[in-house]
Amino acid sequence: MPRQGDLILVLDAGTTSTRAMVFDCAGAVHGLAQRELVQHYPRPGWVEHDAGEIWQATLAVAREAIAQGGGAERIACIGITNQRETVVAWDRTSGEPLARAIVWQDRRTADACAGLRAAGHEAAVQERTGLLLDPYFSATKLRWLLDHVPAVRDGAGAGRLAFGTVESWLVFKLTGGAHLTDASNASRTSLLPLAGASWDAGLCDLFGVPAGSLPDVVDNCGSLGTVSPDLFGTAIPITGLAGDQQSATIGQGCLAPGETKATFGTGAFVLTNMGEALPRSCHRLLGTVLCQLGGKRRYALEGSVFVAGSLIKWLRDSLGLIVTAAESEALARQVPDSGGVVIVPALSGLGAPHWRPEARASITGMSFATGRAHIVRAALEAMALQAHDLAVAFAGDGAPWTALRIDGGMSANDWIAQDLADLLALPVERPDFVETTALGAAMLAGVGAGLFASLDDAAKAMRGTVRGFVPDLGEDVRSARLELWRRALAGV
Ligand code: ADP
Repeated sequence: MPRQGDLILVLDAGTTSTRAMVFDCAGAVHGLAQRELVQHYPRPGWVEHDAGEIWQATLAVAREAIAQGGGAERIACIGITNQRETVVAWDRTSGEPLARAIVWQDRRTADACAGLRAAGHEAAVQERTGLLLDPYFSATKLRWLLDHVPAVRDGAGAGRLAFGTVESWLVFKLTGGAHLTDASNASRTSLLPLAGASWDAGLCDLFGVPAGSLPDVVDNCGSLGTVSPDLFGTAIPITGLAGDQQSATIGQGCLAPGETKATFGTGAFVLTNMGEALPRSCHRLLGTVLCQLGGKRRYALEGSVFVAGSLIKWLRDSLGLIVTAAESEALARQVPDSGGVVIVPALSGLGAPHWRPEARASITGMSFATGRAHIVRAALEAMALQAHDLAVAFAGDGAPWTALRIDGGMSANDWIAQDLADLLALPVERPDFVETTALGAAMLAGVGAGLFASLDDAAKAMRGTVRGFVPDLGEDVRSARLELWRRALAGV
């Protein structure tokens, strides 16, 4: 039975900010509040968050958005979506963090991953979890905390240690003690087999993570917990949980096998719905849980590109070539092409499908005729070129794209949207409401609370209109650009 309220509160605990949004069942927004999050960079390659700050920010934005939406009595249910892979260690008795959270971007466990790879474990880990051995994923971060933070080690010894990803931490704080994680977040730890209901003892042994410190793995929607009444003035059920990329996939309505979304933010994340089939990649893509409803899983194949919008930010902040990110669009339109300039944006190595952490960025093909607009255009062109490499890998893995649904901060750039359609030779769709991550969590929470009978119904009711971009580029130009890209890529 749904509660009396008719609104859905979404808590979106992202990497750079924490936000709260209040939706109605038609997808309209009735409240929005946001707090920036302090990024801690204690050493090169290390990235940390203060889990206490994430919690306080979440509480503050939730209260603000609830007030905008007309008060807690109007909130039927809560959905949570979060930056994935980031790990939190806390004391389950005191409810206090035992260390700074290690963020997904943190590379401190690169050697540990290399050691496991050298010992020949990668194929088995990939087979079981869908993931590669990379510091990106949670398990080696958890082990690092046990090895280097005395409070974490002592907590484990005393049976008080709780590990979790960010949604797990927030659920613990909101409910006053429930220790759980949803299957989409759990599938990013390297400890959950794609086909297994819960943590795998062999994987916990391999990574050295005590299973007793881990949360229970639950569905992405349903009656997952109840918020302590003292926090918002009334007990509100938590009925949806999902990692941000899975949530965006759902928010984009990619609910049928083959449907694909690409989020262009700091990095670019492409997920294709694989239905109930276990995703197996022979092209260095990741297999991941898309969502679990009633114990039944749907899977996705994922390609993560580390540098997308951050390239534009770099042109702005480090090179001073542009003043605003949006200006890149007008500059790209000033020239008929990049004049032969190609940028390979390997500023922090190359992610999928290349996985070359040692690769470094290049700008090639310049002459005295090269101007600012050519370089900016080449930077924007790099988005479609990177997406093209992913498209080839997805097709090779038996999941060819037939259309691409885009979102994220960069998708506001019409030139990029059209270039994606042109270079991929595919229709590209962009929703008018681009907050797809929050929307997906709202859809899950709505289904979990009984406001909708299914995700399909939630998508019909909550997703708004989309704008389409159709391919319009001659094959000779397209293949010439791809050839230049291949050559530039070989040189990095
Ligand atoms: P995240 O969620 O990863 O923090 P966003 O989805 O908010 O990122 O996207 C922000 C990124 O998109 C920034 O790196 C910025 O440089 C880039 N960006 C924003 N607007 C544009 C634009 N109009 N054209 C090109 N890039 C843009």
